[in-house]
Order: sequence, then C-alpha cells, then structure tokens
Amino acid sequence: MSAEEKPLNFLEQLIKSDLEAGVVEKVVTRFPPEPNGYLHIGHAKSICLNFGLALKFNGACNLRFDDTNPAKEEMEYVEAIKQDVSWLGFSWDGEERYASSYFDTFYEWAVHLVNTGKAYVCDLNAEQAREYRGTLTEAGKNSPFRDRSAAENLELLEKMKAGEFEEGAKVLRAKIDMSHGNINMRDPILYRIRKQSHHQTGDKWCIYPTYDFAHGQEDAIEGITHSICTLEFADHRPLYEWFIANLPVPAKPRQYEFGRLNLNYTVTSKRKLKQLVDENYVDGWDDPRMPTIAGYRRRGYTPASIRKFCEMIGVTKADGVVDVAMLEHAIRDDLDKNAPRAMCVLRPLKVVLTNYAADKSENLTAPGHPQREDLPERTLSFSNEVYIDADDFREEANKKYKRLVLGKRVRLRNAYVIEADEAIKDDNGNIIEVRARVIENTLGNKPEDGINPKGVIQWVDAKDNTEFEVRLYDRLFTDAAPDSGDKNFLDFINSDSLVTLQKCYGEKGLAAAAPGEVFQFEREGYFCRDASEKTAGQCVFNRTIGLKDSWAKIENK
Ligand code: ATP
Ligand code: MG
Repeated sequence: MSAEEKPLNFLEQLIKSDLEAGVVEKVVTRFPPEPNGYLHIGHAKSICLNFGLALKFNGACNLRFDDTNPAKEEMEYVEAIKQDVSWLGFSWDGEERYASSYFDTFYEWAVHLVNTGKAYVCDLNAEQAREYRGTLTEAGKNSPFRDRSAAENLELLEKMKAGEFEEGAKVLRAKIDMSHGNINMRDPILYRIRKQSHHQTGDKWCIYPTYDFAHGQEDAIEGITHSICTLEFADHRPLYEWFIANLPVPAKPRQYEFGRLNLNYTVTSKRKLKQLVDENYVDGWDDPRMPTIAGYRRRGYTPASIRKFCEMIGVTKADGVVDVAMLEHAIRDDLDKNAPRAMCVLRPLKVVLTNYAADKSENLTAPGHPQREDLPERTLSFSNEVYIDADDFREEANKKYKRLVLGKRVRLRNAYVIEADEAIKDDNGNIIEVRARVIENTLGNKPEDGINPKGVIQWVDAKDNTEFEVRLYDRLFTDAAPDSGDKNFLDFINSDSLVTLQKCYGEKGLAAAAPGEVFQFEREGYFCRDASEKTAGQCVFNRTIGLKDSWAKIENK
C-alpha cells in the first residue's frame, strides 16, 4: 500500500474534517522541545507527526523551544536540535521560536488573572502546599492566602518579579477549585521564583512560568491550530483550556494527545540519556549506541529510514512498546536498496597464492550494487597475497561449512576459485597463514575440471588495500525493558555493546569513502565511515546493522 492509499490516522481525520468544516483555514502545528538534551527516537515520532501533518495539509509547522526552565537548558542543545530536525528532512516555518521571547506577554497575562481575581500569590512552602493539595480521593483545602485582594496580589507579584523574595518563598497560583476532581485544577502554580540566568533572556527574569502556564499560551500566540502532545498531558487539558478561556489570547488552539513511542531494549528519557553521557557509560550524545538522532546519524541510519519507521508504527491513542527490530528492519531495508557494496576483512588471515607470480598484480571489477546499475563499478586489485577472514578457513570441517578448508575449494568473491594446500602455524599452534593455489581460468568461469567450490567468501588484496578500525555495536541494554518498574537501567548495560577491531582491511576504493557514507561490507553487514570530529584524521567504520533481519521474518509470517 502506498503512503497515499494508507487510511488516515485519527489526527489526519480530525484535521481533514476541521478544514472541510471551516473550523480552521490553515493547519498550524509545532514541535516544542525543551532544550535540555538531544533529541531521541521518541522525538522523531513527534517530529514526523507534526511536520508531516503540516506537509500533508499544506499548513505550517513551527519549531519552538520550550525554554521556560532556565536550570537545565543550554545553547548546545538548541543547536543540536535544529541540526537534527533539519537532518530528518523537515523545515520549520520562519525562524525558530522561543517560549522565552513571550515572557513579557505571559507576565501581562498573569497580571490580567490577578486583576480579574483568578490568580493569587501564595506563601505556602512546598511541603505545606502538598498537604493542602489533597489526594486523588480527597479534596484539597484552600490556601490561607487565597483571599488576598487583587491590589495586594499585584504588589506581591511585582515584588516577586523585582527579586525581593527568596526562591521558594512565594509562588503565583491560579484560583480555580481546590476540590476539583482533577488535581491539576487545584490552584496550579503559574510562576516560581528562580534566581537563575537564562540562555536567551539573561538576568532579566527571576520568576519563571510553569509548563502549564506557558504551553497553551505559546500555542495561542503562534496561532497553532492543533497542539499535539503525548498522552500523559491528557490530564492537563482542562487546565490548558481554562487558560485559553480566561486570558485575552489572540487564538484558541486545541490540544490533542497521542501515544508516545516506547522501544524495547531502549531508554527514551532525556534525563536517563544524559546520565549515560555524564557518567561516561557512552562516548557522548552521539555515541552510535544511543537512541538519539545524533547517535543514529553517526551510526549510519538514514533520515528516510527513520521517517519510514515512524510511518510504519503509525499514530494511535494508546501507549505501546514497539520492537526495536522494526527500526532495524527499516534501516536494513533502506541500505539493502541503496548502499554500495564493498569487501572488507574484519579478522584478517593471509592467504599466499603459490602459483600466482609474486610480482604480478591485476585489477578486477565488481558491481557497485547487484541491482543498481547507476552505482559505479568498483576496481579490486588482486595479487599473490590476499586476506580472508580467519573464520572463513578451517583445516577440517563438515559439509555444512561452505568456506575454505584444506584440500578444498572456495570462490573468492568477484575473483578466482582457490584451493587450500597448507596451513602455516606459529609456535602456539595458531594458524597464521594459508598456502593455496588459484585454479586457472576461473575468473567468471567455473573450474574446467568440474570440481566446483561450495561457497563464496570475501577477500582483500594484502598488498593494496585500505586499513581501518571497525567498531561493532550491539544493543546498549541486555534487558528488553531496562527502565520498567523499579529496575535501574544502569544494571542492564550490555558490556559487549561495543567491540573495537583494529587493522581491518577493506578494498582500496574505501580510502575515498566520505564521512557518513554507508556501505554493505559483503557477508558482514552495513558500515558507516565515522564522521565524528573525535576520529578526525583516522579511518573508522561503525557497524550500522548486521545483515540478518529477524523482523522481516515476523512480518512475512
Ligand atoms: P523526555 O521524556 O525524553 O525528557 P520530553 O517529553 O520531556 O521527553 P520534550 O523536549 O518536552 O521532551 O519533547 C518535545 C516533544 O516531543 C513533546 O511534544 C513530546 O510530547 C514529544 N515526545 C517526547 N518523547 C516522546 C516519545 N517517546 N514519543 C513521542 N513523542 C515524544
Ligand atoms: Mg518535557
């Protein structure tokens, strides 16, 4: 089924009918990250959804930094987030926006609520406020400060703003209903005192709005028509609507919720990902084992594969856990179609071809891709010494082993059939070299004596090649749900999630691989030339993903 034929998801249906009924003229969505970490695969779902809806319905999508919390936010994250959204292939409408550029308006609206008797300054400390709040089954109690006059509240609010009180001494609260069945409606906090500099507003403010007092108003200021968030905000919707109804806002956005993406074997919480980085469990936010967009990029995932994955999982109103094999399937499928082929030997074992002249070498050719004639042919040099993978040779083996065995034949991929004569060992009995013979006239032909090889293996010329380091990655966690229940996700870090191999040999053309370029190393998997500054001047390949696809089997059952 093509993308066009796919049935509309519930948000697409909703927008379609809003447009048809004239409820909105143009759909405007937004992606509103808090710049307190790098984006992860869960954010990719939200990005594809919000930008995707705008594209599908000829609307616009804003990128808005929800930077109301000065403590944890940094410009590094702002830059990284912009890069990641662009890399995924989306463009936001106009310049990026910042919630902090609306702080003046938020303050005016706080004053408006005070003046209309709908907000008050409260002196309860955090512990007292908790007692007054009540529980899910018990109503709360009114704060003793709830009935201050508008004039007194205004004076106190101005003093809060002027920095005359300590952090925690006072908050501004909405005056709604302390016995409301929804705890979010029990006089929620609008402003807190925080004597901290902000990356956009510097020291202008020492009071900062809460998420609840900011988010819907940001949407209103920007003329967002459909404010889409994850399910845990459903309980905040009445409050979102209360602010929109009680403030002189220029537009009336509406909030809709969808199920967040959870992936097995994966942690998607910025706080936990930051902990992995800060405590050096990984090599930064862009470590190829991280479920961050930056990590996937460095690992060799393509934007198209991530968008495809987001399309495959769809959008629903329920939370669920998606099998990470589905994401792996998406990238494998993309690379199978698009990645040029190459040969590489990860654990080299030298094979000396005794009947091939030691001073001779020749250039052989191989297709860039078996189905893609548009990809250029490769040139492979061949001489009397080649490397094969140590796993591809045995002195003896049963019939299932279709590689090189003493006295038997194998085809070197895109080259000759060879036959092994002798294994040379070191003093400890380790095989350090194999002596073999080229079977004549087998370039593109079967052996004339009719003794056909059982298998084909990759190889690299030992005299003319590209040497590099290979990093083999595996899942970062050994447990399918490393942060569920009361588990500590750090207890499940896979100690084999990174295996580094030095002195791997690839065909000579790989020396020209561009940083970020991905190849299929035949019989090994997909590998991406590392593009990080951390490996500048070195040649390093990251394994994007192996060749075997467990998801495809499940899907085709
Ligand atoms: P985290 O829980 O990782 O800290 P967050 O929700 O606090 O994420 P924000 O920066 O506030 O991070 O998120 C920006 C947008 O991305 C929000 O609209 C949020 O709903 C969405 N989002 C975050 N995580 C997911 C997820 N796992 N699946 C879908 N959308 C997500
Ligand atoms: Mg958040």
